[in-house]
Amino acid sequence: MKSFACGDVVPGCTASWVSSTDDEILVLVAQHASAAHGIETVSPELAQSVMDRIVVVS
Ligand SMILES: [Zn+2]
Repeated sequence: MKSFACGDVVPGCTASWVSSTDDEILVLVAQHASAAHGIETVSPELAQSVMDRIVVVS
């Protein structure tokens, strides 16, 4: 499984996700970024920084 914590990119945010694929996490993060942080569009740079911080969990 893959895991990502929004707080790794947005200090103070406690949202985190666990999913089987990177793509699924990116979709969930995009929804959260829009709803919680007012980020309408996930730029390639933001997507990359999310990808860089996704960790593998068992
Ligand atoms: Zn967040």
